[in-house]
Amino acid sequence: MSDFDFDLFVIGGGSGGVRAGRLAAETGARVAVAEEYRYGGTCVIRGCVPKKLMVYASRFSESFHDAQGYGWQVDGTPRFEWPQLRGAIHAELDRLEGIYRRNLANSGAKVLDGRAKLVDAHTVEVAGERYSAAHILIATGARPFVPDIPGCELALTSNEMFLLDEMPESIVVVGGGYIACEFAGILNGLGVKVDLIYRGSQILRGFDGELRNHVAHEMEKKGITIHTDCSVEEIEKTDAGVRLHLGGHGSIEAGAVLYATGRIPLSRNLGLDEIGVELGRGGAIRVDEWSQTTVPSIYAVGDVTDRMALTPIAIREGAAFVETVFRSNPTKPDYDLVPTAVFTQPELGTVGMTEEQARNTGEIDVYCTSFRSMAHVIAERDERMMMKLVVARDSGKVLGCHIAGEAAGEMIQMAGIAIKMGATKADFDRTVAVHPTAAEELVTLKAPIR
Ligand code: FAD
Ligand code: NDP
Repeated sequence: MSDFDFDLFVIGGGSGGVRAGRLAAETGARVAVAEEYRYGGTCVIRGCVPKKLMVYASRFSESFHDAQGYGWQVDGTPRFEWPQLRGAIHAELDRLEGIYRRNLANSGAKVLDGRAKLVDAHTVEVAGERYSAAHILIATGARPFVPDIPGCELALTSNEMFLLDEMPESIVVVGGGYIACEFAGILNGLGVKVDLIYRGSQILRGFDGELRNHVAHEMEKKGITIHTDCSVEEIEKTDAGVRLHLGGHGSIEAGAVLYATGRIPLSRNLGLDEIGVELGRGGAIRVDEWSQTTVPSIYAVGDVTDRMALTPIAIREGAAFVETVFRSNPTKPDYDLVPTAVFTQPELGTVGMTEEQARNTGEIDVYCTSFRSMAHVIAERDERMMMKLVVARDSGKVLGCHIAGEAAGEMIQMAGIAIKMGATKADFDRTVAVHPTAAEELVTLKAPIR
């Protein structure tokens, strides 16, 4: 038994912190976790979970339309009641938060409520109480970033989107990444008029070019207006909401403006500078491949380290830390071939290299198809799916898989297993199709298009 109060003190009860705290406690270590807001963190309280519930809600508007093609008589105009959905979402979040707290407590960890700050390399202070620990894990996540322009205080961020008193009739979404594109789809589906403003030439930078174009085109077909190469210089309050002054593009008015322009690691005011924990670009805590900071007793995982801001990655980093430090099994998180989905409408699922990235690695073959899903034909929904395999010409290995359309997130999880195992195009070809599905297109791609 060491002289410390705890073997591990975790700061932050989100995806990474809760997983690490629970796994460490299960090894018999004495663990405390402190959370300043709500257990579950961004993912559960104001990220993945409420966002996905809103995605489900927003899809109904198209379902009512589709239903008529299938013979359903939908009498009257369906009406959406935001307060009812907001209530249902928050009841579910309360339930999940309770589960997170209980699981932590049941693992034997001490569950603390309050903001934690480091006093020295082995001491943490929460609500005036000091606790010593052999190891400290910082898992404080990140917060939304809003550029400092005149009127920026008028901008909503994703944090507020789940708490709105009422839905605006119209909104401007600024940004072209995951959150901007997902919320543009959600709000459009819920009947809000959406303008999306992005500073670059095409949204979803970093994803496969052809798929980006496809998703943008389909989003526009659904009614979202996308303004590319466009920047906001000032936000002004009006009686009806806001007016955004656009550099060289005039101005645009809406009921509200949502900024989704990236997130900043929550590393400030934690006492890190004082004890020599180094920060990198944008305030991200600098860690080595074992998640150890420049102070040996202090580790950091998840968004605060800005390695790959996804919940399953924060969880893996937390688990790898516990394996390394509490199970004497040095383990590095694996960032290779991470499947991911953007819950845009249509959804985008992707794993491995984009066509553009793969071209820099050698000769490739590109297999790509775009088609109207069977489900949409008699529903008279004018939406197309796109699937692409990027294949190394010499080995036949599938380097990347990209899917846009219904259930792309579900499909990419499965394709991700095959690709992680090193599947070749021949392996895809010899896998019998599941018929009739959209996914079968992935195993029936005949000739390369490039
Ligand atoms: P967090 O989950 O943010 O947890 C950090 C916790 O630390 C917070 O609860 C915070 O209150 C607490 N904290 C901070 N400072 C202190 C302090 N000083 N003392 C005590 N507690 C403190 N990822 C996906 O994989 N899929 C998705 O679909 C997805 N959707 C998202 C949608 C939105 C709108 C957002 C914003 C994010 C989304 N993400 C998604 C990203 C995902 O939520 C994060 O990558 C993940 O939550 C990071 O986990 P974390 O443990 O690093 O931090
Ligand atoms: P992203 O990094 O995905 O996107 C940020 C967007 O804002 C980019 O389009 C960026 O443009 C733009 N931008 C950045 N700075 C400025 C600025 N000063 N002025 C105007 N535009 C700007 O961040 P998000 O906030 O959307 O999400 C944060 C992270 O959370 C994601 O990267 C992802 O890791 C995670 N997440 C995951 C989800 C999922 O798994 N489905 C869903 C939501 C979030 P540019 O491209 O030109 O840099």
